[in-house]
Amino acid sequence: MGRMPAGVMREATIDVGAIEANVRQLRRMVGVEVIAVVKADGYGHGAARAAGAALAGGATRLAVVEVAEGLALRRAGIDAPILAWLHAPGATFGEAVERGIELGISTLDQLTAAAAAGTADRPAIVHLKLETGLGRNGVAPADWPIVCAEAARLERLGRLRVLGVFSHLSNTSHDDDRAALRAFEEGVAVASAAGLSPRLRHLAATGAAIDLPETRLDCVRLGIGIYGLSPFDDRTSADLGLRPAMTLRASVAAVRRVPAGQGVSYGYTHRTDAETTLALVPLGYADGVPRQASGRGPVTIGGRRFHAAGRIAMDQFVVDVGDAPVAVGDEAVLFGDPTLGAPSATEWADAAGTINYEVVTRIGARVPRRQVSA
Ligand SMILES: *Cc1c(COP(=O)(O)O)cnc(C)c1O
Repeated sequence: MGRMPAGVMREATIDVGAIEANVRQLRRMVGVEVIAVVKADGYGHGAARAAGAALAGGATRLAVVEVAEGLALRRAGIDAPILAWLHAPGATFGEAVERGIELGISTLDQLTAAAAAGTADRPAIVHLKLETGLGRNGVAPADWPIVCAEAARLERLGRLRVLGVFSHLSNTSHDDDRAALRAFEEGVAVASAAGLSPRLRHLAATGAAIDLPETRLDCVRLGIGIYGLSPFDDRTSADLGLRPAMTLRASVAAVRRVPAGQGVSYGYTHRTDAETTLALVPLGYADGVPRQASGRGPVTIGGRRFHAAGRIAMDQFVVDVGDAPVAVGDEAVLFGDPTLGAPSATEWADAAGTINYEVVTRIGARVPRRQVSA
């Protein structure tokens, strides 16, 4: 901390060593195979970079939301298994099957499309998704026997292989998640009775993987935890032995000494109450800094902690630093690793009334990512 490199306006540093260590730590905790979830550009960290670090840390598989994300990882040279589970209506899967992208299947139509893309040489690899209460995608329990029977028929024809069966939890309560687990186990029994023998049963994301050991099954799909953030309200990253991988920082772009009574930013929601110094931080809501955190979002400058004063604008916000000796070019850290003195992404989430997932995934394209390894 201190000064920013000359010429750098703003950046998000991504500590790939942290991602690697987080996967290793979580892998030890859960004791089963880890699917690293790198959807949404690796939660804003860079999908290929996150994937590489996660594989180095012991993840054996990757997951994304849509096939296009999987194809981009293949183009980046990643050859680990990749699962994609949300598809456009009427999607066809020729390129996915050709490039070895595994398909999450939520409807009979998707199953048919997967089989149509599969060949005897290269069957489509599918994971059947059962809806167990979340109310999103997944095969409805009433349709599950039919989908399993059809999948078994297509498997016998050599058009596809059912590698996995999966579902997703609501994290409403342990009781709700255990009820979903029971529904899932019934679904697995139906699949077996239909003649399927999926090697990978998976249900848990980071929260359940840590907190509800019975949901770990054959493998877990870990997203937020591999980036070093806690999915829990009552436990920090450090409590879980995780290190936040993303640090968002900027160079103080301007400093101005002002008298008492100076209005700050649109709407003058902040007025200085004494002579003070205002520092301008060149990050705004276009960069993903939540405007809802106006007047509250934390920032450290020169290692001292302040908060956004007045409204966060599209490109910038102002910090009232009092008489602290702040200069143009000083480093302003919005969030990073709290054990190193930075505010946390979770504090920004709290200030904005959201969750840390949203804070890191929304950091905008105008913020260069720079890979580091601590
Ligand atoms: C995003 C997602 C995950 C990862 O969730 P985390 O809470 O970030 O670990 C796992 N499974 C599914 C289906 C998801 O959509």
